[in-house]
Amino acid sequence: MKEEKNTNIADVSRRSFLKGGAAASAVAVVGTALPASAMTGGMNIGQEVADTHKWSWEEPAKPIAKRHIKKVVDTDIVVIGAGIAGLAAAISAAELGAKVEIVEKNKMPAFRGGHITALNSQVQQAMGIKNDTRQIIRELVAWAQGRVDEELLWQFFRKSGAAMDWATEIGKKHDLEVTMWEGYYKGPDYTEYPVTHFFHEKDADLSYVYGHSNGIGNATLVPAMEKEAVSKGVKVNYQTPSAQILRDETGKAVGVIAGKRGHYTQFNAKNVIIATGDYASNREMMQRFSPFALKADAQIYFPNKCNTGDGMIQAMQAGGAMQKHEPHAAVIHLEAGAASYGFLHVNAHGNRFKNEDVNTQSKSCTKELEPDGVAWTIYDKDWADQVKAQVDANIAGGLFYGQMWQPWGKGWNKEIELMTQEAHIKDGKIMVANTIDELAVKMGVPKVDLEKTIARYNDLHKMQNDPDFGKRKELLTPIIKPPFYAGKLYSTVLTMCGGLSTGSDLLVKDKNDKPIPGLYVVGAAQGDFFANDYPTICPGIGHGRCLTYGRMAGIIAAGGDVDKLMPSIDI
Ligand SMILES: Cc1cc2nc3c(=O)[nH]c(=O)nc-3n(C[C@H](O)[C@H](O)[C@H](O)COP(=O)(O)OP(=O)(O)OC[C@H]3O[C@@H](n4cnc5c(N)ncnc54)[C@H](O)[C@@H]3O)c2cc1C
Repeated sequence: MKEEKNTNIADVSRRSFLKGGAAASAVAVVGTALPASAMTGGMNIGQEVADTHKWSWEEPAKPIAKRHIKKVVDTDIVVIGAGIAGLAAAISAAELGAKVEIVEKNKMPAFRGGHITALNSQVQQAMGIKNDTRQIIRELVAWAQGRVDEELLWQFFRKSGAAMDWATEIGKKHDLEVTMWEGYYKGPDYTEYPVTHFFHEKDADLSYVYGHSNGIGNATLVPAMEKEAVSKGVKVNYQTPSAQILRDETGKAVGVIAGKRGHYTQFNAKNVIIATGDYASNREMMQRFSPFALKADAQIYFPNKCNTGDGMIQAMQAGGAMQKHEPHAAVIHLEAGAASYGFLHVNAHGNRFKNEDVNTQSKSCTKELEPDGVAWTIYDKDWADQVKAQVDANIAGGLFYGQMWQPWGKGWNKEIELMTQEAHIKDGKIMVANTIDELAVKMGVPKVDLEKTIARYNDLHKMQNDPDFGKRKELLTPIIKPPFYAGKLYSTVLTMCGGLSTGSDLLVKDKNDKPIPGLYVVGAAQGDFFANDYPTICPGIGHGRCLTYGRMAGIIAAGGDVDKLMPSIDI
């Protein structure tokens, strides 16, 4: 019998994107062949469709001619990328006496946000905050439906407290303090856990009004880490993008070629650590690995959209593989402010379409399924008191109900939230009107439908029952007192959560699941940690894994003892 050519499902979806005709025939093959193949167990979906397209990273990298390499540097470890993950790796390796070079394509280190997940840190212990870590891990695995490396998750939770304690000491040297955030959602079906740390300057004002955070977050921590790295002898080569990862004849990673075309430096190293962040600013990778995320209203990253997936591409060209589970999860948040509370949501037709008692990720993604991807949240004059009452009664809250830097124990701050709303009104993100008719006109939705939807919602409040979508009665708030407000839900991709295939040794795996010796991956470039959706039950888990695995990879690459330097917590 003639041997059948295997073609996997991912190849079919890739073709579907590229050529309508081929996609149509692929569907036809699936439609007719599947029952037969299911019976015979013989045929593979899509096998008859010829595959000619290659994604750009599937082309082999052209070897860089020796004449273009102007300098050779011998070192112990080369780290690609000076974000939180790369700097944690570099400092940790340098502390053990390793010679470390960082190559960074920008002029400065990268930072943003500042929530950082860690479990059982000294800061947490001093505040008397306790968590059931096994329960958290079980929920994270359930969130991902098990499509992650569970060992990687367990390892993170065992070591994150030690990583945070280490970062806290670095912060102290640079006059930074660490505190815990307090804005967690405590609903019956969805709970956010008190695991979120953030750094700030000693006298920083922690009031967060519409994005103004001076002296708070990773904008304070990461520059301190950069100074720490330099003080430990790490050489940071700015404006030096990596171009190729080098492997020797045994397959071991042995260095990186980096720099400007024609003026490259070859960094020969015993170990290479990829810490280049995610790929949300690379449309081709988005289309390949997470096309739904392209529906979001915006994508932001700073500095200057540096997250173009370079490390992943260069690792793939050197024989590494991306994680197997697709599509990749994404961090897609709604903009902070009243838009992300649990008030009535309506679509562009003025119709309600969901139970609004869900987390911010769920709202930002489900609104994309509505006509034109448009949705609004509607509330009245009493909104701030209603939210405060819900948060104080522990029946709501969470990202982004409260302020970004609301310190532990300080409660929900109505005044600050009103200031944020004012700013949103000023820049046209929230409409205000004295009648529902007027509001409908400003929103551009049909008046009659909006009136009908609001009347129905007010009835549900009176009945204290939501037979339409099952929302908890405590969250059904009336919309009767002018002025009335409509906030447009605005979804923003922050970071993609899929990356290079790896395991708890942090080595990049090849297509055959074999670790590539000497090639480590940390931070947002690392795969197999998230699946389906970004798990907001641990606000700051993105940065948390950067810090923890960055530190671990640095220690391992420098030949140190991880268990001694990062004692595990009992789980
Ligand atoms: C607005 C915003 C707020 C956020 N807030 C939070 C938050 O509060 N909590 C949280 O957990 N997560 C947050 N995130 C996500 C989080 O910032 C990232 O997941 C995380 O910082 C990734 O860190 P990293 O070190 O892996 O990558 P990065 O911080 O992106 O650093 C990677 C570095 O590698 C460099 N680089 C890239 N390619 C090359 C190359 N070829 N050669 C050399 N250098 C290269 C880049 O220039 C960059 O400096 C936020 C994201 C955004 C956009």
